[in-house]
Amino acid sequence: MQPENYSVMQAGNGKPIKLWTRGVPVEDDAKKQLQNIAQLPFIFKHVAVMPDVHLGKGSTIGSVIPTLGAIIPAAVGVDIGCGMMAARTSLTANDLPDNLHGWRSAIERAVPHGLSRTRGGRDKGSWENTSANVDIQWAELLPEFEAICAKHKILKNTNNHKHLGTLGTGNHFIEVCLDESQNVWFMLHSGSRGVGNRIGTHFIELAKKDMEKFYIQLPDKDLSYFPEGTEHFNDYVQAVSWAQDFARRNRDLMMQNVVAAIRAISPKPFTADVEAVNCHHNYVQREHHFGHNVLVTRKGAVAAWPGQMGIIPGSMGAKSFIVRGKGQEEAFCSCSHGAGRTMSRTAAKKRFNVADQITATQGVECRKDADVIDEIPMAYKDIDAVMAAQADLVEIVHTLKQVVCVKG
Ligand code: 5GP
Ligand code: MN
Ligand code: MN
Repeated sequence: MQPENYSVMQAGNGKPIKLWTRGVPVEDDAKKQLQNIAQLPFIFKHVAVMPDVHLGKGSTIGSVIPTLGAIIPAAVGVDIGCGMMAARTSLTANDLPDNLHGWRSAIERAVPHGLSRTRGGRDKGSWENTSANVDIQWAELLPEFEAICAKHKILKNTNNHKHLGTLGTGNHFIEVCLDESQNVWFMLHSGSRGVGNRIGTHFIELAKKDMEKFYIQLPDKDLSYFPEGTEHFNDYVQAVSWAQDFARRNRDLMMQNVVAAIRAISPKPFTADVEAVNCHHNYVQREHHFGHNVLVTRKGAVAAWPGQMGIIPGSMGAKSFIVRGKGQEEAFCSCSHGAGRTMSRTAAKKRFNVADQITATQGVECRKDADVIDEIPMAYKDIDAVMAAQADLVEIVHTLKQVVCVKG
């Protein structure tokens, strides 16, 4: 028998927890949270834990939660459909300008990003005027959105349209990277923006109310669920799928705009449609596993079916990976969605300063101010250790290192 690549944790009468975390630190709080999840009666077979695991709200980030007959809206969370997109260009390192500031500014101008300005001025994270590309995508999304809105009145907001093709804030980013062969890649991270947040929040609250109504006790209110066959279950499945669709289109549109922006300033023409990957890492969908049709929630995890391509980013000062799935059924064909945090944002801000951030991001054209210290590379796990712990889940196809990083 070959030694297993995962360890097993048992939680009372609950289902087992299988962890791909060899050589990677796991917080006790995260373990406790996993035990709460594993004890839910509708967990199918076991919970699979990826090496980037860390404490989340209700459910653990870096976990794969298969369920039969129920869905947990807070397990997907409010950042519905968050994920990554990457595309290899025909440019190489020699085609990059000596000073990358111009490329960074071009990307920053091409994609709205950052915080909303509440007083005066428009929301700088949204479009002032949307382009035909955005309008076409929105027109396809609109009918179903209106149906969802009609039933769940609180969802509608005129800005939703203007957020399609925009980055968002904080942890979301757009990068220019070089791979092991000095090829230039564009890579970005974002989700379903404000509209996904609203949908998530609405249904999380709805599930909590339903639990109260039916006197269902849970170890954590953020594990509130909708039983299959109920109207709320069906409404959530529809709304969450819609938000996931929005998120995928959002990344596609951003990638198009990044490519166009760099084309406008690059002396050399280039293609950017080779090896393009667009994957969610915060989502739920129906899948077939161990002979059953189950709902699989990947909360900070990526699908890794046999041959399927995925993206595992490191941090704003570390390597990232384009990976190919090995289809490990015990992990419900999944892998990690990144390195994962080792400390909270607050802890990182307390512990590190701007000088640390400058050292940690040497050679990267990016923000190095006090407002991004919570994103400092040292606040994340060692990506090499994380990759080693999931060697049976994915194979590394490309190793990327950023030269430009635009943070939201
Ligand atoms: P999350 O979706 O949980 O916010 O982040 C996913 C992963 O992205 C994190 O676990 C971390 O490993 C990685 N990451 C965070 N910031 C950056 C960045 O600026 N650049 C790259 N390449 N990866 C990042
Ligand atoms: Mn996100
Ligand atoms: Mn994300």
